[in-house]
Amino acid sequence: MIIVMEQGAAESDRQGVIEWVEEHGFRVHISEGEERTIIGVIGNDRPVDRDQVARLPGVERVVPVLAPYKLASLDMHPQPTTIPLNGRQVGGSRVLVIAGPCSVESREQILETAHAVKEAGATALRGGAYKPRTSPYSFQGLGEEGLELLAEAREATGLPIVTEVMAPELVELVGQYADVYQVGARNMQNFALLKAVGKTDKPVLLKRGASNTMEELLMAAEYILSKGNLNVMLCERGIRTFEPYTRNTFDVNAIPALKMRTHLPIIADPSHSTGHWELVGPAALAAVAAGADGLIIEVHPRPEEALSDGLQSLKPDRFSDLMGRMRAVAEAVGRSL
Ligand code: PEP
Ligand code: MN
Repeated sequence: MIIVMEQGAAESDRQGVIEWVEEHGFRVHISEGEERTIIGVIGNDRPVDRDQVARLPGVERVVPVLAPYKLASLDMHPQPTTIPLNGRQVGGSRVLVIAGPCSVESREQILETAHAVKEAGATALRGGAYKPRTSPYSFQGLGEEGLELLAEAREATGLPIVTEVMAPELVELVGQYADVYQVGARNMQNFALLKAVGKTDKPVLLKRGASNTMEELLMAAEYILSKGNLNVMLCERGIRTFEPYTRNTFDVNAIPALKMRTHLPIIADPSHSTGHWELVGPAALAAVAAGADGLIIEVHPRPEEALSDGLQSLKPDRFSDLMGRMRAVAEAVGRSL
C-alpha cells in the first residue's frame, strides 16, 4: 500500500503518517517526488485500515500496490532510481557500459583488457574471479587472487569493478574488492545470497535466470531491496528457449516490459544472450534502442585463448567500434553514451 501525501503537505503531517505506520508494525519507504511525497507501507500481509490512514492530516489518497513486488514497483517509487557509479548516475540519461573478460585469467590479461576498454570509453570493468561453470572440471576462476588482480586493474585505470559473488559467505570478501556485486543468472533465486547482498550498501547487478520470468526477477530484486539495499540493477542476459543457433534467446522485450513495472535501472548482456561474438553488436544496438540503461559486454584480447566464453568475447578493436555504433543509437533515442 502507498500513501500519497498532499502537494506541499506539512512536515509534521508527514511525520504523523510515518509514526502511525510504524506504530502499527509496518516499515515505511519514502519516495520524494518533485511535487509530492509517497510513503510506502512495507511489512507483512496483515490488513491495514485504509480509511483510518486516509483520514490522517496531509494524506491525499491511499492506493494498494497490487503487484507482489512492492519496493521494486513503479507505484512505490514513480521516478527512476539512479545509482552513482564512477561519477555517473546509472539509470540517468547516459547509458552505462561495463566491459571486460568473462574470467580474470592473469595479471597481463586483466590489465591489458582494462586499459583497452577504458580507452574505448567503458565506465566499469567486469571480470569473474568466482565462476559458476556448468562443469566442475571447467576453470572455476582465480578466487581471491582474481579479486586482487581486479583491484590492481582499478588502480591502474580508475575503472570500478563489477564481479560475481556466488555464496553468502563470500559477500564480505568480494565486497572488499568489488564496486558492484554481480549476482549471476544461476543464483538469481539463491535467497540466502540475495539477503546477504541486501544487507550491504554496495550496488548489485542482478541477472535474470535463464528460465525465470520477469516477475520472478522482480521478486528476487525485492529480497535485496527489502533488506535495505536500494541500489539494484536488473540484467537481461537471455533466456532458454528451443532455439539452438544461439546460446540463449535475447529477450529484448524484457527491457521495456520491466521499465513499465519498475524504477530500477535495466542492464542488457548481449554476450551471454547470444553466445557468439558476431551477434553481440546487433543485440547490443537493439538493447540501446529498446531503452536499456546499460550494457555488460565480454571483451578479451585473445578470445581464442580465453578460459571461459571466448566464443562470445569481442576483441578490443571490435568493442571500440561497437562503442561508436552504440553511441549513435543512444543519441537517436535521446540518450548519450
Ligand atoms: C558472466 O557474467 O560471466 C556469467 C556467468 O553470466 P550469467 O550469470 O548471466 O550466466
Ligand atoms: Mn561469461
